[in-house]
This record gives sequence, C-alpha cells and structure tokens, in this order.
Amino acid sequence: MGYVLLALAVLLLCFIAFLVIKAATFNPKNNVTVQENEEVFDRDVVISRLAELVRCKTVSYNDKALEDNAEFEKLIALLPKLYPNVFTTCEYKELPDRALLFRWQGKNDGEPAVLMAHYDVVPVNEDMWDKPPFEAILEDGVLWGRGTLDTKVTFGGVLSAAEHLIEQGFTPENDIYFAFSGGEEVNGNGALNIVNYFEEKGINPAMVVDEGGAVVENVFPGVKAPCGLIGIAEKGMMNVEYSTKTAGGHASAPKPHTPVGILSKACCKVEAHPFKYHITPPVAKLFDTLGRHSSFVFKIVFSNLWLFKGLIDTFLCKKSGGEINALMRTTVAFTQMEGSSAPNVIPPKAAMVSNMRLNPMDNIESAMEYLKKTVNDNTVEIKLLHGMNPSRISVTDCEGYDKVATAVASTWRGCIVSPYLMVQCSDSRHWGKISDKVYRFSAMDLTAEERATIHGNNERIRVDCACRAVEFYIRLMKQC
Ligand SMILES: [Zn+2]
Repeated sequence: MGYVLLALAVLLLCFIAFLVIKAATFNPKNNVTVQENEEVFDRDVVISRLAELVRCKTVSYNDKALEDNAEFEKLIALLPKLYPNVFTTCEYKELPDRALLFRWQGKNDGEPAVLMAHYDVVPVNEDMWDKPPFEAILEDGVLWGRGTLDTKVTFGGVLSAAEHLIEQGFTPENDIYFAFSGGEEVNGNGALNIVNYFEEKGINPAMVVDEGGAVVENVFPGVKAPCGLIGIAEKGMMNVEYSTKTAGGHASAPKPHTPVGILSKACCKVEAHPFKYHITPPVAKLFDTLGRHSSFVFKIVFSNLWLFKGLIDTFLCKKSGGEINALMRTTVAFTQMEGSSAPNVIPPKAAMVSNMRLNPMDNIESAMEYLKKTVNDNTVEIKLLHGMNPSRISVTDCEGYDKVATAVASTWRGCIVSPYLMVQCSDSRHWGKISDKVYRFSAMDLTAEERATIHGNNERIRVDCACRAVEFYIRLMKQC
C-alpha cells in the first residue's frame, strides 16, 4: 500500500514538474523584424486632410433614400485636391456601388498588395455628442468627428502615405492597389465589385490589408504589454428569428403557457447550452504568441492547452463571456423580442431575434441545426433572417503576413504582434474567394474607451494616433 502511494506521489510530482518545465521554456518567439529608422513626414497636413474628409457627411443607410449622395460626391471630388501626387501617378477608376480603385504601378510585375478602407460612416445621435460630429474640431491634440476611427483615418492614411512617398520619388517594387468602398457599414457591394474585378483580370494579391485588430492593451490574461493584433480570419454572422403562434385571447383566463412564456423557455435553453468551444488555428496562434508573454501561472495554462483548455472554457469563458469566449465559440445574443401591443391581450404571435457570431468551425447550416436541436420544441419556428458564413482563414507563414507584422512592430515599438480571430465582420471577407492572404489590422493604438466610441458617441482620434496610421502605411508600402 505504502509503495503504491509513494509511486503515485512520484508520478504526480513528475507530472507537475513536466507542466512547470513546459511553462518555463514557453518563451517569446521574437520572429518579427523591427525597422530602426524613423519616418518623417508632414503631420499637420495629414491631420488637415483627415479633417476635410470628416467634414463630408458620408453616412450610409440600409434605406438608400436617407442617404445624401451629394456628400459622397463631395468627398470623391475632394480627393484630387488633397492628394494630387496620387492622382498624377496612379491609375484611378470607379466601380459600381461607390467603389474607388487606385493602381500604383510598381517596378516589377510580382503579386501586388491591396490596401483597403471604407469612407462611409454610421449615423450619429447628435444630441449625445459633446462636440458636433461633422465639423472636425481639433482641440488639445484630438480631432473629433464621426469616421475619425472608422475608417477615414486609414482611408486618408493610405492616401497620405502614398502622397508622401511619391513626393520623395519612391516607386514600389510591385503594384499597390488602394481599394475603397463607400458602403461597408450597410453591407454594400463596392468591395465585392473590386474583388470580382481582380478575379476577372486574374490578379492574385500577395496580401490584402483591411480594418480589423489594432494595438490594444489589457486584452489577454497576464499580458501587460500592448499587443498588435492582426486578424487572419473573421467570424460569420447570422440573425435568427424564433416565433410561435397561438389562438391569442384575453389575458384573464390564460393557458399554462403563453407565446411569450414559450419563447422565454426557448431563450433560456439556448443560453444554458452554449455552442461547443473550439480552439481554431487563429486562436491557437494567438494563445501560442501572447501566452508566451503572459505571467507564469498563465504560461502553465497556455503551454499545456491539451490539459487546460476545458478549464479556460469553464472559468474564463462560460462564466463571464466576453472577448476570450467570443474567440472560442459561436456566440448567441438575444437582441429583440415582440409580443402583444396591449398589457391585457395574449398575442396571437410572439417573436424574438438572436444575433449570432459564427466560429470558423461552424457554419449557417450547422448552427441552425444546433439551435433547433437545443430548443427542441416544434411549436417554435426557427428561421434564418440573414447570414454570412465565417471567412476563410489566412496563412501566416508567408511574406505578406511578415511585412504587415514588420510594419506593426516598427511603428509601435515594443508591442507584441500576434494573429487573432476577428469577431466582427468587414468588407475583407469577400477576398476569401481569391486569396488566403487577407490581414485585418486597423492601424491605430486604441484604449478601451476609444474603441467604445466606434459606432457610438464622441468618436475622436488623437493626432498622434492618426499620424501613426500614416507611418504604418509608409513602412508597409516600402516593403511592397
Ligand atoms: Zn464601422
């Protein structure tokens, strides 16, 4: 008996030693090149151009009748005045649905780079803003306005970087395309039309860069340093309606379950049975990169995922939801519910809607199936209202990814560059049909508070942050 216990104790010690040794050797990879040079350009002119772009009220709406087309025309007409070098050097064409495409011809005919942004913005709730949203007020080193972050900063950043480099006499090694859409916020077809153009011409990009991750802090357990997160895939999205019909009637003599009660039960079932978690390649790469920079306790966890992934799910995800949870599974958020219009009337029909973000391991079909199985009530009709499958997953062992990573690490010195999974949708998903080198990075360093102003109130950008975007594109273009 004593020998057995002793043997078990020795085994346990060996096992703990194994975990600790794995964690102790789980060191940062340092595989990103950092350029040491400084990039000098005219910062004031960058900001004054961005201000001009913000003053165009390019608000896109699902209902086209609400749009002010003159504001879009105003912005397009401004571009040759703001970026004259770009217009004399690059080929320019407009494609349907407000797509703008520039081709900056390189010295060689290798695979080109594609730099994307959108110049439409979401509507504002003007009463809730501390400063007018379309006047581009510059105060204390901060430029205020809708679109400053999303994404006129990168739209103007790409063009300002090119304007600067052309002025310096620079020509890229290979072609660089600037691909802009004016309807990203309403799922417009501008970006898709550009992708179709590339497909028809048989042009295969070496890399596509669009909005996505950013340089952020306090987003990963145990990591204090800023992280430059490059999205290598994005989750899918679907809106699902659940409805149930009954005879309705007066509320004074109800049946045991009203339509609202039946839907509530369905809602509780779905919430109580989250989708299965998966550590997909983008998330595995994120854990493997940032985990190595984490505190020792988390190093033990992230270097031994085979053992701890269930614990991560139980303690970091299922309990508190949030960002890590969204990275690991398909999420379901119930957003709308509708019943009777009067307090004393049982509705003949009640409905609710969930907005879902699909993990790369799921798709629309499999998610619908899971919902039906989980609700398991044939009086509840479950209907797909709108859906997009998850994007293709881009590769990271290629020059395209390395160049983006180098530009990030050189612009924000000391940040940890890592691939990740984007939980929002962007125009870049359309490129999946012709490329597995699509990278989602919004060239900014943002606090949590600043990120909350995107699509919210008081959107604004620090002048320094807007200039870093230009520096990022200069560094990227120089490698293209
Ligand atoms: Zn947006």
